[in-house]
Amino acid sequence: MSARSNAIQQIAGSHREIPAPTTDIDAIFGCDVFSLDVLQKRLPKPVFRTLKATFDKGERLDPAIADTVACAMKDWAISKGATHYTHWFQPMTGLTAEKHDAFLSPAGYGRMINEFSGKMLITGEPDASSFPSGGIRSTFEARGYTAWDPTVPAFVIGTTLHIPTMFYSYSGEALDRKIPLMRSISALSRQALRILRLFGNETATFVRPNVGPEQEYFLVDRRLAALRPDLMLCGRTLLGTAPAKGQELEDHYFGAIPARVMAFMKDVENALFRLGIPAKTRHNEVAPGQFEIAPVFEDANIATDHNMLIMNLLHEIAPKHDFICLLHEKPFAGVNGSGKHNNWSISDSEGNNLLDPGSTPLDNAQFLVFLAAVLRAVHKHSAALRLGTVGAGNDHRLGANEAPPAIISVYLGDMLTDVIDTIVNGVEHKGGRTSMEIGVSTLPPLPVDLSDRNRTSPFAFTGNKFEFRAVGSSQSIAPVNIALNTAMACALDDIATELEAAVREGANLNSALQELLPRLFREHQNVVFNGNGYSSEWPVEAARRGLLNLSNTVDALERYNSPEVMDVFLRQNVLSEREMIARQDILLENYAKSVGIEGAILLDMARTSVLPAALREQAAAADVALKTRDVFGEAETEENRVQLLRSHARALGECLVTLEKSLELLHGASDVHAAARTARDSVLPAMQACREHCDALERMVSTENWPLPSYAEMLWMH
Ligand code: ADP
Ligand code: MG
Repeated sequence: MSARSNAIQQIAGSHREIPAPTTDIDAIFGCDVFSLDVLQKRLPKPVFRTLKATFDKGERLDPAIADTVACAMKDWAISKGATHYTHWFQPMTGLTAEKHDAFLSPAGYGRMINEFSGKMLITGEPDASSFPSGGIRSTFEARGYTAWDPTVPAFVIGTTLHIPTMFYSYSGEALDRKIPLMRSISALSRQALRILRLFGNETATFVRPNVGPEQEYFLVDRRLAALRPDLMLCGRTLLGTAPAKGQELEDHYFGAIPARVMAFMKDVENALFRLGIPAKTRHNEVAPGQFEIAPVFEDANIATDHNMLIMNLLHEIAPKHDFICLLHEKPFAGVNGSGKHNNWSISDSEGNNLLDPGSTPLDNAQFLVFLAAVLRAVHKHSAALRLGTVGAGNDHRLGANEAPPAIISVYLGDMLTDVIDTIVNGVEHKGGRTSMEIGVSTLPPLPVDLSDRNRTSPFAFTGNKFEFRAVGSSQSIAPVNIALNTAMACALDDIATELEAAVREGANLNSALQELLPRLFREHQNVVFNGNGYSSEWPVEAARRGLLNLSNTVDALERYNSPEVMDVFLRQNVLSEREMIARQDILLENYAKSVGIEGAILLDMARTSVLPAALREQAAAADVALKTRDVFGEAETEENRVQLLRSHARALGECLVTLEKSLELLHGASDVHAAARTARDSVLPAMQACREHCDALERMVSTENWPLPSYAEMLWMH
């Protein structure tokens, strides 16, 4: 029996009742987190107060209390069963990183004690030579340091205390995604507070972005996936023909969740609850085998850590239920891909959502300022925002009629668009045009329409938040939030500077707004698009409006070091020039490498699985043709079949030679820019050409001779 049919029989035979674990959320929520409550219980009062100020104000930790905090943290972790600790960080590769150290320390005379000092808590020095630095660190000075981020709590997973940390080089440059994220949050706070002060708010102490990421993923039976090197090694199928039944009937979307999947989801949720991650929503997604999990929104820094943990745990827990979890943006060609909706809003230290239209004229005038800032941020800095979505995987999805196009526009809904229109153009009356009065004492309640939930816009206003929908499912949400916060900080900076100057020169806020807002809305109206982002007319219209269309990762990354992108990050002190060049390098290299690996795997699969299957089939078909001719005197159908198999196999052989040559070109490229372009322009097209013949062969070869699980099996067997 072939490995494939063996796997299918096993799955079919394993239909048993799968009990889903029960959950007492109250009892377990946050039980593995070193939370404020735990801190308060375990620390002397003055130490707790100092530490709390560090959390609230984002201040540097007072070294005098570090030992006390470390000791309390160690004792708590040991009471949770921990034996080790790790500085947990987010290097520029797609994953999180950890190196475990035992608490144990020799104490002489053969004794051991548990030791964990303030110094061990605050800094670490992982051997960082193999994490990408984009040339910031040469391997001979491979020092990279981790530093505790006290603004997010430590937690225990298994027997290891995880301490969230930042990762930086000997010369102080960011080597991770957390440092720029934290810098972007400060920048946004700084600039937004200037606006709040103009509106007379003297009490807010900070402004923070809130993020609720919706995470899509696929589950595939592990026994089937194990027979697909492409799925195991690159998370997507590199060949495979569309199933006879796909998502056409839409019977999977929001349908009943299969029992085995439900057991998996509950297991994941339990693990998340223990870590204090508020997993709230779960459902089937559009494609068969596709699902979604969404937590309640949190502070952007915590939401980012939590999304990393969600991705890690989805991967880890899936095999316990005989699944593998695919976070890739496009695991199956022709089937809906996976994304991540980054719901984003900003609120002040008193919890007021600054993107909420509100009910008083004052609130509404302030809302319009923030709205204008969002439009300005997206319009002026779209190249920077596009960088938050780059990656070889996401290129298969963006603009493919299932995900927003690479053109970054804003959806506002008809009613809010009308308001802006009225502000810009006024309304026609008998006596001529009068424009809307924007003053802080005059503005009527703003209509916000929520009825039309446009799904094709990359950046949609949904009542009191914006939903950035172009992020890929496998990507960290840090880059997109870094870009959003920083672009927004720039726009608020411009606006605050103008308003402050007008007020300084004696204007009242009302008249300053009346002058500024119509001008801003007019300047940035072109970024608002409420129509169908999937239509073929939109790219044409977008070009007419002068909007950027960076349709692939390489185009987007090559803009990274352009003055307009660099200026955004430099102005707000979020990234230095050296850090940006390093990031561009790392991302281009990562793109080229991912495509290169995929090319090599396809080459291998085609040569070791597809061609042998085609040859077996040919031999069998030739045999049938011969016998048919013997018996019936003619065998046209059978001989045609042999010919067709032969011609695809031969063409595939030729395409594989081209693919091999393009891979050599890629590996010989002079620098990362050339490599990335070769990957896009030579390797990917060569892979596509191979795939077409592989898929044609799959449609012809009998099930017994085809060793790879089919799309239908992988998508429907749960
Ligand atoms: P959907 O978009 O699927 O209809 P929702 O809009 O209800 O779902 O929520 C999606 C995500 O948006 C959730 O993570 C939710 O917590 C988050 N969210 C809700 N309000 C805000 C907000 N003010 N700021 C940021 N995220 C929010
Ligand atoms: Mg949503």
